[in-house]
Amino acid sequence: MKTVLVTGGVGYIGSHTSVALIESGYDIVIVDDLSNTRLDLLEGIKKITGKDPKFYEGDLKDEKLVAKIFNENQIDAIIHFAASKAVGESVTEPLKYYKNNFLSLVNLLEQAVSASIPLVFSSSCTVYGTPDLLPVTEQTPVKPAQSPYGNTKQVGEEIIVDTIAANPNFKAISLRYFNPIGAHESSHIGELPLGVPNNLVPYLLQVAAGERECLSVFGDDYNTPDGTCIRDYIHVVDLAEAHVVAVKRMLDGLSKEPYEVFNLGTGQGNSVLELIKVFEEVNGLKLNYKIVDRRAGDVEQIYADTTFANEELGWKSRFELPDMLRSAWNWQKNLSKLG
Ligand code: UDP
Repeated sequence: MKTVLVTGGVGYIGSHTSVALIESGYDIVIVDDLSNTRLDLLEGIKKITGKDPKFYEGDLKDEKLVAKIFNENQIDAIIHFAASKAVGESVTEPLKYYKNNFLSLVNLLEQAVSASIPLVFSSSCTVYGTPDLLPVTEQTPVKPAQSPYGNTKQVGEEIIVDTIAANPNFKAISLRYFNPIGAHESSHIGELPLGVPNNLVPYLLQVAAGERECLSVFGDDYNTPDGTCIRDYIHVVDLAEAHVVAVKRMLDGLSKEPYEVFNLGTGQGNSVLELIKVFEEVNGLKLNYKIVDRRAGDVEQIYADTTFANEELGWKSRFELPDMLRSAWNWQKNLSKLG
């Protein structure tokens, strides 16, 4: 049995990937500092899988902790989710972002390189900025980052490229996520925003649950069919499965290059108003929302060309927007019970 170290494994994408790994027959070791999540999600992983994964609570900036994890476990692959991820906060606290996201990555890479342990890196379609052409392929040029957070993803990828250039036995895959939403069908795990959510779906869910009054739709004067921004929303369970495929690809020696990049989206663009309408329809609810001014820094539209991931990884998203929004609402109802 192969063992995968999942950093940030108690987080939103991390918890779903932990479940997918266990269900695919991997042993996992989780490290998480719980800075942006709660142990409820670790309990959720246990409930779904019936397994109790080894868990380290701690911070990957701590070089000694990282060394201890690798000394105490025979790690075969790493999936690195642990990172700070709020765009707005990264603008006001850039050094927190650079310190956290870079030091963690470097500490992990030192261990990974010394034992040639392959690594999957959580990247983002934010690296494409405002793309000149749609849909976005992996060859679409990377644009200057719009925020310190975005910069940590771009430079994170570059750090990996440079590391591989100097260590030809080391392999990595960056997965560039589009907009992950939804939750596991059991409703035992899902997104757990602490404080006021920045992202559309977590905010919308809190409005639907009566925890917030009204969803602000940021701008309806974009050059899109209904004037609201378009994104490629992908079910977090689909995203999780792609991580398992990426790990297996490297462990089985199937990588075509030591460093590979894949877009993870559905290839389908949906506007904010379309998403609200589907949410209302599938859940039989009316959502209180209003149109307000554009939000600074928002890209008008972006969605993935999934050809490369489909053909090369042999992975394809299975779920559609109604599934994503139904599961998201079921999770929210469970979360309201958890308190
Ligand atoms: N959005 C919105 N209201 C909100 C949050 C987001 O209208 O309260 C819009 C945002 O302008 C964008 C889309 O929803 O068009 C997705 O935003 P999100 O922050 O979820 O992800 P992003 O694509 O910005 O990373």
